[in-house]
Amino acid sequence: MLINGKLMEKPEKIEIFNPSNNNIIDTIPLGNRQDTKKAIKAANIALKTMKNLPSRQISEKLYEISEDIKKNSKIFAKLITLDCGKPIKESKEEVKRSIQTIILSAEESKRIYGETIPLDACFGGENLVGFTSKVPLGVIGAITPFNYPLNLVIHKIMPAIAAKNTVVLKPSIQAPLAALKLAEIMNIYLDPGVINVITGFGNEVGDEIVKNNDVAKISFTGSVNTGLNISKNAGMKKLTLELGGNDPLIVLDDANIDEAVDAALRGSYLYSGQVCIGVKRIILDKRISNEFKDKFVNATVKLKVGDPINLDTDIGPLINEKAAITIEKKVNHALKDGAELLCGGKREGAYYYPTVLENVNTNMEIVQEETFGPVAPLINVNGFEEAIEVANNTKYGLQASIFTNDINKALKATKLLEAGSIIINKQSTYRADNMPFGGCKMSGLGKEGIKYAIEDMTKTKLVIFNPI
Ligand code: NAP
Repeated sequence: MLINGKLMEKPEKIEIFNPSNNNIIDTIPLGNRQDTKKAIKAANIALKTMKNLPSRQISEKLYEISEDIKKNSKIFAKLITLDCGKPIKESKEEVKRSIQTIILSAEESKRIYGETIPLDACFGGENLVGFTSKVPLGVIGAITPFNYPLNLVIHKIMPAIAAKNTVVLKPSIQAPLAALKLAEIMNIYLDPGVINVITGFGNEVGDEIVKNNDVAKISFTGSVNTGLNISKNAGMKKLTLELGGNDPLIVLDDANIDEAVDAALRGSYLYSGQVCIGVKRIILDKRISNEFKDKFVNATVKLKVGDPINLDTDIGPLINEKAAITIEKKVNHALKDGAELLCGGKREGAYYYPTVLENVNTNMEIVQEETFGPVAPLINVNGFEEAIEVANNTKYGLQASIFTNDINKALKATKLLEAGSIIINKQSTYRADNMPFGGCKMSGLGKEGIKYAIEDMTKTKLVIFNPI
């Protein structure tokens, strides 16, 4: 752990397992409430110097950190794969994106502007001068999930630092190794207390971060249930909640079917479906559903399931065996209720084979709830209107995608679909790290994407000057 610039061990340890073979790969300190309080105190003290650093200097430090991570790219990719079972080719992508996210933060740190306010537009303001500046918010509490253990951490701590805040991070206990390595590197470049990392359980370390009055904002990514719990306990803190998704991919009868199949394949099975913006429901116009189904199943059975450390592996294990058993139960439940298995449906330890289901009805749990695994339910509909209705018929609203060559339907869909982003002719797993990202309905509150995260990690201070 990292508290006030000191890398710390503790006698109490948590064992970290490689999900592909259950071997112990490391042990990490088990942090507690007291450690978290110390970290928050250190972050508060560090704010005093951080607030006065020139943005040029902060930007330079972030560039230096990005260079250091680049030099350690191979180590980071391997850590991600060993720790969370992500296929190595995808872990490499995550590291590449993480470096880019830091560079975006370094650039954005020099573009934090206020504005002038035309006070003379209102009675009594004739001679007044008004302007705003953006000032740091304070200590940012960052709580992150297991599935993108580097880039999602970076999406919180780098904009926070770019805006001259300090941070207390609690990474997921299921995949903490990349965050700990990152902390080690950041500690070389930043003053003590600017970044603090506590490894421990959500209901103790996370709970302290959420309830502590010296934390100004919680930036959380994780499940809906944890997000709701956080919003209940956070009091007056600012909140960003990036929560679960159940993203639809609609294929209309005029779509390019091969492109749609390719997109559905990437969207449904990326990191074994453990992606918030994974394609979770495939909604097909009846007129093309047979053609889509045949091509999609053919492509699915060709995916290579295996050890994630191998470069040619497409599908690795889920985060642990318990997660795979949950998926197995959900699929079996759907089959009992009348769904038909087209391929997959098999579990070996933490591995779950890519699975396609048809004859699913829209009330089934597999359709209504987020399935965090490699399962693709196919839902047939009669045309555009029904497709939109089915797509909107869940409590989630993260991203949504539609395949069509009809510009009118595409634009109409952007108006009607209830989601944070609507993507035309590409799957919902697309995310550029500078775009405003975040869902509606139960998928969350607020936006990430460096510029947007910074907006939420600053306060607007107004100055009114009466020249006499
Ligand atoms: P999770 O179980 O909600 O855990 C997320 C983090 O919250 C972990 O660090 C966890 O600690 C911590 N936590 C648990 N209870 C807490 C509490 N009472 N107070 C404060 N923190 C607490 O989520 P997950 O299983 O790791 O991740 C999968 C979920 O994240 C999916 O639903 C996925 O859709 C969502 N997700 C959303 C986005 C997005 O951008 N919208 C991106 C990625 C993932 P532990 O270490 O104890 O688990």
